[in-house]
Amino acid sequence: MIAGPTARRDAGADSPLRLPRLVGSDLRVPLANGELRPYVNLDNAASTQAMQPVVDTVIALLPSYSSVHRGAGVPSQVSTRAYEAARHAIHSFVGARATDHVIFVRNTTEALNLAAHCITLRPGQIVLSTAVEHHANMLPWRRLAKVRVLDPAPSPEALLFDVKRALEDPLQPVGLLAVTGASNVTGEVYPVEQLSRLAHEHGALVAVDAAQLAPHRRIDMVELGVDFLALSGHKMYAPFGAGALIGPSAVLDRAEPLLAGGGAVTYVTLDDVEWAPAPDRLEAGSPNVVGAAALGAAAQVLQATGMDALAARERRLHRYLEGQLRGMPRIQRLVLWDGEDADRVGVCTFTVLGMHHALVAAALSAEHAIGVRHGCFCAHPYIAHLLGVSISDAHTIRDRLRRGEHRDIPGAVRVSLGLGNDVADIDRFITGLRSVVEAGPRLQYREDPASGDRIPVDDQRSMPSLPNLPSLTDSGIGAGCGQF
Ligand code: PLP
Repeated sequence: MIAGPTARRDAGADSPLRLPRLVGSDLRVPLANGELRPYVNLDNAASTQAMQPVVDTVIALLPSYSSVHRGAGVPSQVSTRAYEAARHAIHSFVGARATDHVIFVRNTTEALNLAAHCITLRPGQIVLSTAVEHHANMLPWRRLAKVRVLDPAPSPEALLFDVKRALEDPLQPVGLLAVTGASNVTGEVYPVEQLSRLAHEHGALVAVDAAQLAPHRRIDMVELGVDFLALSGHKMYAPFGAGALIGPSAVLDRAEPLLAGGGAVTYVTLDDVEWAPAPDRLEAGSPNVVGAAALGAAAQVLQATGMDALAARERRLHRYLEGQLRGMPRIQRLVLWDGEDADRVGVCTFTVLGMHHALVAAALSAEHAIGVRHGCFCAHPYIAHLLGVSISDAHTIRDRLRRGEHRDIPGAVRVSLGLGNDVADIDRFITGLRSVVEAGPRLQYREDPASGDRIPVDDQRSMPSLPNLPSLTDSGIGAGCGQF
């Protein structure tokens, strides 16, 4: 059951969708002058707030929390059921094949690293991918094989053309196509079904990074023809440390376990080990039962709310946001596919002419209580492409960062929508952005040399301390290190 549904102001909807409540939807945060304001969260692509129904599941589980699989006590059996029920919920949420396994991991990064570890390519085979990928869907494959990276294509048709041509290249046989389901920088939804068909026609496997797709679009692995899929709970309103890799038992049951240890075996002697089949084989050690249950609950609630209805609502909000941004002086949108019919998840990234991205984001937070993200969004090659940064300039940036110089690294500002946002949030953002861009920030900011972030010179915000944790001074936090 979906607890505490709320109706929010929608952009042109006939009837409001009953949305699950988010914990923190009524959060008030301080401005730099100390005044409290309702917080507008426009950083959903990074992490989402927890859904109340997910928290309800966690709270209901905690009294019976215990180790899973082997405990004879009732709490252990309750926890085991919750853990396995969550696996079923994820399996159903992504429309997996009966023969697919759901492996619980920490997040998409771990899921893709695990996939790269489990997949074996034939000698000489390469991985085919594109330069739009998040680092999580770029770096793990370099450990598996040579990766051929296609330039960002100017349209879905151009992408399909480029991929087909690369798949036909006899000199570089492709064993795996690794693509994102939706870009975390520009939001484009990738033509995964057509890409999978092409890859399979040429005997290649398909791995999809669904970190951004899963919270925003219905996924059906069978329909899409995807072999491996990776997702994160913290981007799906279940920030309790679990994610999932979904993939074929034919590969996962035979894979060398990444972690060796208890729970992954059927029997151990002093000189031998019999590994269990997946999923156990790939989940050595005590699992994150609470995180898995939260992720399963989120998947079930999202599915029950209706992914297609959520997507339709988000498209309306996104169009409204884009309409408001269009024509705003000094704003340059970063998009790859700008056709009217290009499908995009609720992500909108831009630069402000003559103003550093860190300053825009800092002023929106300190002066307007609006949370956005700035930087390169863990997609350095893609941001370099979008901003026209040459390879040699990119190498210079790398060298500067190596020396710890964070000043004026090129980047952008990203606004990203989630199910907690409505038209009023976008209006607040547009008003705040107009004020920052047209009149300039009202406050003075200094640059933090360690991160390149901008900090109000007279910052009266005090962060709430949490029970049972030591309070850290700002100097102990190490803001933003390495998080471009
Ligand atoms: N892939 C995409 C497209 C992402 O947006 C992200 C996170 O921002 C990741 C992968 C990595 O996700 P995680 O940090 O949960 O491992």
